[in-house]
Amino acid sequence: AKLNAAVGPTLGADVGDVMSDLFSRRKIDDELLDEIETTLLTADCGVDATQYLIDEMRKRWKRDKLETGEQLKGVLMELLEGLLTPLQQPLDIHTHKPTIIMLAGVNGSGKTTSIGKLAKRFQAEGKSVLLAAGDTFRAAAREQLQEWGRRNDVTVISQDGGDPAAVVFDAINAARARGIDIVLADTAGRLPTQLHLMEEIAKVRRVIQKADPTGPHEVLLVLDSNIGQNALAQLAAFDKAVGVTGLVVTKLDGTAKGGVLAAIARTNPKPIRFIGVGERIDDMQPFVAREFVEALFD
Ligand code: GDP
Repeated sequence: AKLNAAVGPTLGADVGDVMSDLFSRRKIDDELLDEIETTLLTADCGVDATQYLIDEMRKRWKRDKLETGEQLKGVLMELLEGLLTPLQQPLDIHTHKPTIIMLAGVNGSGKTTSIGKLAKRFQAEGKSVLLAAGDTFRAAAREQLQEWGRRNDVTVISQDGGDPAAVVFDAINAARARGIDIVLADTAGRLPTQLHLMEEIAKVRRVIQKADPTGPHEVLLVLDSNIGQNALAQLAAFDKAVGVTGLVVTKLDGTAKGGVLAAIARTNPKPIRFIGVGERIDDMQPFVAREFVEALFD
């Protein structure tokens, strides 16, 4: 598989090459299916999705009397597209004003970068954006954020060492007063195993609801695709605490093995609003299942 940051993910250089070799075989047999199974597991598809894909491929092999690896590849791509298409649901930023988007994710997942990318994207669609710096623990990060806000025409509401929930509450009121279209409410990103964090972000959610009973309109979890199956544990923890309504899956460029999206589709399906495909501000795209699958096998 060749790296294709412009389009999206690859199966990871090694996995992609193994896969290409497998499918270039002339004949389908049990051994080939076993090797495909191992490769799917290596690509972060997880046990459940892998089992499903292999079972379905086996059925189609017998039923349609498939002969070549190339035909089997076509079936696998079809199956993956079938799994992922239900997750292709664009984020609605037009129904509410302000649209309140709460962002969650552990440090290092790409949350800050994704917030910048989202702000730029929404502004390009003609929307005004306000950022609530709900991660009140990182002082340096806060200053950086203010500076970033000035440069990008995004109002940043923050508070020294304050209560994250209070910051978000203020931000929503400020957005109303200024007629802002979209509030991006950042939250703290320590590890989800830390109970305290989950309590804190659950509180942020409650405060948003208090400020606007129709909100939050989106609880967006930022997930790093490089962490493989751990993404599922993170999703489960955040989902339990705040009810995740959408995902930004980051770092699908480089060596990421996009199979984790198939695992999510099978075990805890959530709309994938955007995928991150690089570090630059424009390296974010809406998730399109067909493009994603084609890039995987490119
Ligand atoms: P945070 O701690 O969750 O706020 O994470 P950051 O936004 O600071 O990102 C952590 C690192 O990941 C930084 O070096 C980012 O440039 C990088 N990063 C974020 N998103 C992507 C992505 O989609 N692709 C790549 N290659 N790097 C990313």
